[in-house]
Amino acid sequence: MPDDASSLIAEGVLIDGRWRPAAGGRLPVEDPSTGANIGDIAAGGAGEIDEAVDAARRSLSGEWGKLTATERGRVLSRIGQRVLEHVDALAEMEAMDVGKPLGQARADAAALGRYLEFYGGAADKLMGQTLEYQAGYTVFTLREPHGVTGHIIPWNYPMQILGRSVVGALAAGNATVLKPAEEASLTALAFARIATECGLPPGALNVVPGRGDEAGAALAAHPDVDHVSFTGSGPVGALVQKAAAGRAAPVTLELGGKSPQVVFADADIDEALPFLVNAGIQNAGQTCSAASRILVQREVYQQVLERMAARYRELRVGPALADLDVGPLISARQLEIVRGYLDLAEKDGLQVVARGSLVDHAPAGGHYFAPALIAGPPSGHRLVQEEIFGPAQVVIPFEDEDEAVALANGTPYGLVAGAWTRDGARQFRMAHRLKAGQVFINNYGAGGGVELPFGGVKRSGHGREKGFEALYAFTQLKTVAVKHG
Ligand code: NAD
Repeated sequence: MPDDASSLIAEGVLIDGRWRPAAGGRLPVEDPSTGANIGDIAAGGAGEIDEAVDAARRSLSGEWGKLTATERGRVLSRIGQRVLEHVDALAEMEAMDVGKPLGQARADAAALGRYLEFYGGAADKLMGQTLEYQAGYTVFTLREPHGVTGHIIPWNYPMQILGRSVVGALAAGNATVLKPAEEASLTALAFARIATECGLPPGALNVVPGRGDEAGAALAAHPDVDHVSFTGSGPVGALVQKAAAGRAAPVTLELGGKSPQVVFADADIDEALPFLVNAGIQNAGQTCSAASRILVQREVYQQVLERMAARYRELRVGPALADLDVGPLISARQLEIVRGYLDLAEKDGLQVVARGSLVDHAPAGGHYFAPALIAGPPSGHRLVQEEIFGPAQVVIPFEDEDEAVALANGTPYGLVAGAWTRDGARQFRMAHRLKAGQVFINNYGAGGGVELPFGGVKRSGHGREKGFEALYAFTQLKTVAVKHG
């Protein structure tokens, strides 16, 4: 760990502005690039979640709750500045915890800084409306925070996801309890340390790392949590929604995806190509919005497939700190799942047209998987329908726009979709016809887009985070009618 990173290491659980040990013991921290144990973290449970929720509730009538929106925004902006000063250290910490290539981890840390800047600036721009009503009335709306919000996040983009979730909730005036993923909690803890050092009042942010079925389940089911933001897998999302249903608490679910990019014959293929491949292999394919299906119009299918295959053969896989194209997968378990999909492809006679390669110096204990490009599986095949969550993409031909739309929309998911075409009318048609929370025309991902609302339809979830829209999700609307005659 670099010197600078050691100043960010935080120990224990953060409750009411104080760090302390957890009763539930410790969880190991593994470096996925080597498979080696590099330390451990506190494992909180139901007891710590109770205390964290109490502290959050108290903070709403304490120093935190008394801040004006402008003052809240200033604190968040200050934390953002500090995060941006520590981008390199946070990136190294994340690279070692998640196995993410250093450059990608740096982009995540910079995005966290950007979320803090964005929501810091937005905190005092959240407004209600005045409404026309009958004579003698003045009617207006107020946007009020939910109160205590719970945030359960996954391991694949800890900094970005806490940025779009916790930071948005704080900007809107909520007090938060964060449960990071057991596989990767280090940067969430570092963020909390930075936040407290920058003067975030006690109780506004409480962080309880721990197991999902203990700390996570306790947070989702807690009777005094007013809103839950969950990012993770579909089955766990369903449990979280059920747990919150008993008390009618609203839930934001950011779940999985099987996102397509559609390439028409008239597309600028030179421009599309890096987006087609990068959106499949970024973070070793462990990205909810990974473009894991590439649909290509028949006239250019062979050309696109060959050019993607050429790029795949150049892909180098190795340790996160070597900052290559692809790092390891998060765990031995994830590697087994991804290998299982490749075994299935081979068993079913699918054509694996190209693989990336592992560098010689990659440690034997790392969880490496050479990216795999698979041509032409049938549309009902499991590799086309299921989220693999590894660096594997399928490329599928189509004849015309109707077939492209049917294939693109033909999975249970609807997180993100992309289309590449020079035909202006078709660009707009595809924007309407693709069923997804975000649609990109002649680009994919818009470079992360902190400002752009994000979330899914169908099994990809509901509710929106990122952008100004998140501030609506993290507030309730109150209508006030004053009769004055
Ligand atoms: P996961 O559902 O296993 O875990 C996510 C979080 O839920 C972790 O913090 C975990 O500890 C917690 N958890 C586990 N069991 C729980 C329970 N019973 N009650 C409450 N919390 C519990 O998901 P994962 O494997 O960490 O992440 C991968 C999945 O997340 C993929 O499906 C991916 O697509 C999805 N994801 C979605 C988005 C998005 O924005 N839509 C972003 C990133 C990841």
